[in-house]
Amino acid sequence: MTTSNRFDQIDAERIRIVLVCPSHPGNIGATARAMKTMGLAQLVLVSPKEYPSAEAVSRAAGADDLLANARVCDSLEDAVKSCQLVIGTSARARRIGWPVLTPKSCAQQLISGAKDGEVALVFGRERTGLTNAELDRCHYMVSIPVDPMFSSLNLAAAVQIMSYEIRLAAQGAEVDDNSQEKAARLATQEEMQNFYEHLEQVLLEIEFLNADHPRKLMRRLYRLFNRAHVDEREMNILRGILTAIQHLKKKNS
Ligand code: SAH
Repeated sequence: MTTSNRFDQIDAERIRIVLVCPSHPGNIGATARAMKTMGLAQLVLVSPKEYPSAEAVSRAAGADDLLANARVCDSLEDAVKSCQLVIGTSARARRIGWPVLTPKSCAQQLISGAKDGEVALVFGRERTGLTNAELDRCHYMVSIPVDPMFSSLNLAAAVQIMSYEIRLAAQGAEVDDNSQEKAARLATQEEMQNFYEHLEQVLLEIEFLNADHPRKLMRRLYRLFNRAHVDEREMNILRGILTAIQHLKKKNS
């Protein structure tokens, strides 16, 4: 079996690269080129400043098909709605700990996640990266190690490095789908989001959450549940518990 055949066995349709609010069309084109050289195909653009653009096409250097098929969304929420695994990229390690992966382990997670569902790797704005609220949507964060004396990595260059890691991970991945017992599918980002809204509502109703300062607690809870990789059945249990609390509260009031 050749190397490229092995990679073809990984469903590139299930791995999407998301650029959040890119301001330079050149970076969009260079991203398409970077992805295509590594066998990736799904590009999603969240509110690009200038798109479509001749500069993007020129920098894509022949990866125009990828640009033409790129999906444009209004929000990150929309871009990753159907994904069971979402990983955010960042140049900086944040203060309150998101679990940080190396590029290699990130790529391995994406390849193994893509066997069961859709996965996303999310890149931030050229100047300011991803916001904390956007990172709340991510199960993990990945940071490419760079020289701390000159740590500024161009957006499309970061995409190139990560796409290469994904390709390496795909080549190294075991093809053992048949031997594994099928586990329940993981909850999608949309289901997680609905759960978080329900949870916040219940925490307010039982006055555990202070309506004046809800964000910090909710952020810690996002991180806790994102880390848990909740599956479909577990999600039904969690939603059931929340609904039972609400029924009880109503009965007693
Ligand atoms: N000052 C911004 C830099 C943004 S660079 C920040 O601190 O986040 C634009 C994007 O390129 C980032 O949002 C990220 O997606 C990617 N990027 C740049 N350097 C990176 C690195 N060392 N590791 C992972 N992604 C990086």
